[in-house]
Amino acid sequence: MATAPHTLRNLIDGDSVVGEGGETMAVLNPATGEEQWRAPVSSAEDVAVAVRAARRAFEGWSQTTPAERSQALLALAATIEQHGEELARLEALNAGKPIVAVSRDELPVMADNLRFFAGAARCLEGRAAGEYMRGYTSFVRREAVGVIGQITPWNYPLMMAIWKIAPALAAGNTVVLKPAETTPVTTVRMAELAADILPAGVLNVVMGPGEPTGQALLEHPDVDMVSLTGSVATGKHVARTAADTLKRVHLELGGKAPVIVFDDVDMASAMETIAATGYYNAGQDCTAATRVLAGADVYDDVVAGLAEQARGLVIGDTLAPETTLGPVNSERQRKRVEGFLERRPIHAEVVTGGAQPGRRGFYLEPTVIAALEQHDELIQSEIFGPVITVQRFTDEAQAIEWANSTRYGLASSVWTRDVGRALRVSKALRFGCVWINDHIPLVSEMPHGGFKESGYGKDLSVYSLEDYTVLKHVMASLAG
Ligand code: NAD
Repeated sequence: MATAPHTLRNLIDGDSVVGEGGETMAVLNPATGEEQWRAPVSSAEDVAVAVRAARRAFEGWSQTTPAERSQALLALAATIEQHGEELARLEALNAGKPIVAVSRDELPVMADNLRFFAGAARCLEGRAAGEYMRGYTSFVRREAVGVIGQITPWNYPLMMAIWKIAPALAAGNTVVLKPAETTPVTTVRMAELAADILPAGVLNVVMGPGEPTGQALLEHPDVDMVSLTGSVATGKHVARTAADTLKRVHLELGGKAPVIVFDDVDMASAMETIAATGYYNAGQDCTAATRVLAGADVYDDVVAGLAEQARGLVIGDTLAPETTLGPVNSERQRKRVEGFLERRPIHAEVVTGGAQPGRRGFYLEPTVIAALEQHDELIQSEIFGPVITVQRFTDEAQAIEWANSTRYGLASSVWTRDVGRALRVSKALRFGCVWINDHIPLVSEMPHGGFKESGYGKDLSVYSLEDYTVLKHVMASLAG
């Protein structure tokens, strides 16, 4: 017997509240396609109430010491760990992540991210105070920006929320966060838990779609900065809209990571890692290792090796421990991925996969497509599904040229045992991250963010913390 969907509430000013208009939308479990929750479609008025709460809270929160904010973030990390199994399960059910292969893995990372920003909050940097003009002392103050509007995607719902709120709160800002419409469940649960730690209004969550909810956040005149993780198209819209009120903008957008495999790699371990990181989270990762460029001498081995890895994945329910490949996030996303496959050029070779596996839910078979050419849509556009493409290059110069010639610039990797070549190629790649003989690992201490149309601004690291601050120069006359 189907159970009634659970109704989610916004978290505004420390309270769980329904949307003012009472309108709600279905939130599904992608592994079954069934409605499991209902979420508010928050109106512009709901957003305005949240922004007012954040503005009121800013007065107090921005005056706290770094040590006090640090304590709050440490407490949030501990709470997230205590509720780790509950959050991992909710994320598996709502985002379609296999609980063992993906969802549980993410919790320790989020706790570490929070603990990093708890420490970093206490170590902000600026130039030395000094007498840069005779008779005057100058120093810089690094201050909070104000009320930050944050908008997250559906592929890592809770982790992206943590990556956004941790540096923003650490720097003394207050936040109104809108999760993606298909995946609000863990974000709002985290905000409920945080309500026992943070003063009311410091962290607010309003649920709803891009229109009207996200749009209202972008347009609100009392939001000082907007931060989006999402697609390039939404990023451009955010930047254009934010220009009207000259809000600061922070954009983590799509990617199309090239994976350059030279002829001298350890083939078995390279194929294992590339497939694992290409199909991780069903390929719905902005850094996913899905655009493989293989040297002429290893091309056939790469195609065969990736196909073998793909066939070894276990498709199943997200709560089943053996599952290594879950569904994509929505029927809309599955149709989008299938559209790329249907429009493939005549010369493309589907080596494995390419169809639905014949079970309910939004699943797609892990797919390898070979023999693609540089101008093909499958090479130029982010697919965001379990599809790895392979191209054959002739030499280092061509590999670099192809790797760089898409509009994206988020992440990339180079696979070779030749140290000089690895360093040459990593310098030539126009991406915010280059891995050498690996793909996908990130650490709290190092910046994550794109070049080109993958956006600007950094997540993680002290650079992210700095993005959520403004610098003020104070210059004092020594004459009294
Ligand atoms: P999306 O752009 O469709 O949606 C992202 C968010 O923007 C959602 O919350 C959505 O509701 C909101 N939104 C949409 N229209 C809006 C509007 N008019 N005003 C305000 N908000 C609006 O992206 P998606 O499909 O949810 O996420 C997938 C994309 O995110 C991929 O391109 C992926 O590469 C990217 N991504 C990037 C990173 C990174 O770190 N660079 C990380 C994860 C995901």
